[in-house]
Amino acid sequence: MNIQVKTQDAAAARPLAGKVSLVTGSTSGIGLGIARALAEAGSAVVLNGLGAAAEIAKTRERLAADFGVKVGYSPADMTDPAEIADMVAAAVAEHGRLDVLVNNAGIQHVAPLEQFPVEKWDAILAINLSSAFHTTRAALPAMRRNKFGRIVNIASAHGLVGSPFKAAYVAAKHGIVGLTKVTALETAEAGITCNAICPGYVYTPLVEAQIDGQAKAHGISRDQVIRDVLLAQQPNKHFASVEELGALTVFLASEAAGSITGIALPVDGGWTAH
Ligand code: NAD
Repeated sequence: MNIQVKTQDAAAARPLAGKVSLVTGSTSGIGLGIARALAEAGSAVVLNGLGAAAEIAKTRERLAADFGVKVGYSPADMTDPAEIADMVAAAVAEHGRLDVLVNNAGIQHVAPLEQFPVEKWDAILAINLSSAFHTTRAALPAMRRNKFGRIVNIASAHGLVGSPFKAAYVAAKHGIVGLTKVTALETAEAGITCNAICPGYVYTPLVEAQIDGQAKAHGISRDQVIRDVLLAQQPNKHFASVEELGALTVFLASEAAGSITGIALPVDGGWTAH
């Protein structure tokens, strides 16, 4: 009896034991938080993203040591369809399966439309939107083989509403919400789900990089930028955490979320309730 209870507890604590997850853009911020949560839930993890080799090696060692799972890494550039296809193929070849795909890599650039640099538009569309098409396309055959798959696209509140000066970001994020719906519809009978998470502001390097620029642009302090500019639309006036997004991703990847597909779930302190 006690042994059975202990076994049940262990299964509940590691609901993704035996699974393999690939998280794009997971060397930092939200992606790293999600990779950590998936590893804690028992999944082997393949990391991806830019960064110093020594830092990435440390991150891999730390995750593997903390949670006793295999942690790999692909340096694939999310602007390069061939590198993306190779990354997915290598993950499937190494582990024999791919259960969870999190499309998280993303960049931002803020400028009025008339001055928006064309190369920034192209890069944002490639990294924030097209990369998810390429990963999904490459990952689906392995998921279909196992009749199980979970695709989680990290969109944004900007996948649901617009803001000035973010033409490329808002277009890409609305696009990924559309891709989520189509992926869900095409895979609905295959044991595969696809959902988008739409965070409001989460405190990460991507947000940090905007604070000083906005302070200069508006001639106000960093604190004022945080409360009155960045969180102006976020009614609860506080940043979501990477841990919250990690826990939500683990839930969406679990058996319990098997009937949830094609949604765009705001995690935005009420922003899109306006
Ligand atoms: P971040 O800058 O901390 O992380 C971005 C990750 O993407 C990094 O690992 C980076 O190396 C990787 N990346 C960038 N360009 C790449 C490329 N060409 N190839 C491979 N990897 C690349 O940013 P974050 O805040 O953690 O953002 C992660 C995702 O969450 C993004 O899609 C972002 O749009 C979304 N998001 C963030 C917030 C927020 O408030 N931080 C809110 C809503 C949505």
